[in-house]
Amino acid sequence: MVELSNGAVAITGRPILRGIDLTVRSGEFVALMGANGSGKSTLVRALTGLRPLASGSLSLFGTPLADFHDWRRIGFVPQRGGAGSGVPASVWEVVASGRLTHRRLMRPLGRRDRAAISEALEVVGLAHRAREGVSTLSGGQQQRVLIARALAGEPELFFLDEPTAGVDLPNQQVLADSLETLSERGSTIVLVAHELGPMAPLIDRAVVMRDGRVAYDGPPLTSHEVYETDHGHHHAVHVRHDHAPHVSSPLDSREGMAHE
Ligand code: ADP
Ligand code: MG
Repeated sequence: MVELSNGAVAITGRPILRGIDLTVRSGEFVALMGANGSGKSTLVRALTGLRPLASGSLSLFGTPLADFHDWRRIGFVPQRGGAGSGVPASVWEVVASGRLTHRRLMRPLGRRDRAAISEALEVVGLAHRAREGVSTLSGGQQQRVLIARALAGEPELFFLDEPTAGVDLPNQQVLADSLETLSERGSTIVLVAHELGPMAPLIDRAVVMRDGRVAYDGPPLTSHEVYETDHGHHHAVHVRHDHAPHVSSPLDSREGMAHE
């Protein structure tokens, strides 16, 4: 579903990601973990084509990025920064917006669109709040609205960036149940999470980022092990591939920089 080889990202000339090799297979549930600032969100943006690669190659569904146009196969829930705050949209409207990629321009929503929207609201347990303003919901409920928005597009490949950050445990459990449903239906899921919480049993594989690189890629880890991996003391760390340039390169300039 995703194949990134030797990927690098620079933002305004500053190297953020280096030598990233990442393959996500169909039906996998991958947790992308690591400390704040390690590059998880940047990697997800690169994998969804939102952030250009400075080098390396990316294929989605077996198609090189430059030739890939089937964006409706991909759902993306960005990291939340006051989602819905000050936006006078109803829950239903926000979820309906996730259906836009399926619509012909300027055509009204069809029966199938409405069914997908209702279904997405059911999955996240918010069907009864559909007509309410998003801003009247709690943070955790707003997060569920954003997940329903992505679900409404019926994606095969689903990226979620820290959907549980700042979300209370009951809402995390609802999220976990929603993702389990999706996963059982065969969706491929890449979940960015600092702590897995109720998601832990769903994970097939963990990828841990450290300082813009993949520090671990393998079976799920406990959060204690991830913490150790973050600090570079974990002996069981498998760095599967490391294509970091060995010659002097702009990408090396961040070497040895302190964590934020
Ligand atoms: P994470 O999601 O793991 O917390 P990010 O991918 O958000 O990490 O950030 C990785 C690094 O890239 C950080 O040092 C961050 O400051 C930097 N960064 C991310 N986005 C931007 C941006 N838009 N402009 C400048 N720096 C950025
Ligand atoms: Mg992030």
